[in-house]
Amino acid sequence: MIVVMQPTATPTQVAHVVDLIREMGLKDHVIEGTDLTVVAVIGDDRKKDGAKLEQAPGVDRVMKVLQPYKMAARETKRGETTRVTVGADCVFGGRHVPIIAGPCSVEEESKIIEAALAVKSAGAHALRGGAFKPRTNPYSFQGHGEDGLKMLAAARAATGLPIVTEVLTPSDVELVAEYADCLQIGTRNSQNYKLLEACGDQAKPVLLKRGMAMTIDEFLQASEYILAAGNPNVILCERGIRTFEDHTRNTLSLSAVPELHHRTHLPVVIDPSHGTGHARLVPDMARAAIAAGCDGLAIEVHPDPEHALTDGAQSITPQVLNDLMASLQRIAVAVDRTCEPLAAVSG
Ligand code: PEP
Ligand code: MN
Repeated sequence: MIVVMQPTATPTQVAHVVDLIREMGLKDHVIEGTDLTVVAVIGDDRKKDGAKLEQAPGVDRVMKVLQPYKMAARETKRGETTRVTVGADCVFGGRHVPIIAGPCSVEEESKIIEAALAVKSAGAHALRGGAFKPRTNPYSFQGHGEDGLKMLAAARAATGLPIVTEVLTPSDVELVAEYADCLQIGTRNSQNYKLLEACGDQAKPVLLKRGMAMTIDEFLQASEYILAAGNPNVILCERGIRTFEDHTRNTLSLSAVPELHHRTHLPVVIDPSHGTGHARLVPDMARAAIAAGCDGLAIEVHPDPEHALTDGAQSITPQVLNDLMASLQRIAVAVDRTCEPLAAVSG
């Protein structure tokens, strides 16, 4: 922390601030400028409450310097990006940019297998699909639960694609982890700290979606819960935030990609489906996301979007994904990445 004194602060007020810092078990370094005095707080102050200092007489403001997310912070890894492997060989955070594709929810076994085969042949690297669905309305389809997980496992067996699926509650973490290759924590649960801890206390990687009203700082603190509970394999997913704009379902913050890369070593995935809410906007935003340097995409794809049980309006068809993949591959190359099907990936 840095304590900036008011220009009118007296030496006694500065001395009082120094006393408070020492009481907190930290060291002080007083810097007297020509116009005002600044007191630098030395030591790990992440768990210290700056409020006492803010209220001390003569203090203008207190600025945090060390990030409140120690394990997620980029400095922790000396600039390296963490590689998170989902399934056998789908790696997020390397040169290759994997595409997670599939329907919003798992509807029937034959349909999820059909979708999995279609996204695989279009060039996707992992299959998504919700078995436990977080629905805004309690009367809407809530997903097939464990039966849905079994259907996903059948789709994995049919295609070899690893599975990414959402977990809604700490009591289901063990069950979902039995089937899934990667556990998704959705936007509505991204500050459910008990769920974050429970996902941190199991071995499968976690795709953590950004809360729809979360700042980047809060997003990283949420990821810290999973890391601090013992799971280093966290993938961040920007899926759009709530703003006043209503031409899209959410406002997809693509600047989150370079900003997150600046602040953290964790890989960053973009979800252009929830990020826009409209299938017609998905391909362009997917292309833009790769250009912005994302480490993966999560796209809702449904063979028959008109009859999808959930999120049909934002689901593209396998054919659109297939066409999109060609341009994603070209853009990936332009930004020194690759995006081809996994069999073609070397190194
Ligand atoms: C989903 O991926 O289908 C989903 C519910 O996402 P979000 O939590 O981002 O709304
Ligand atoms: Mn969805």
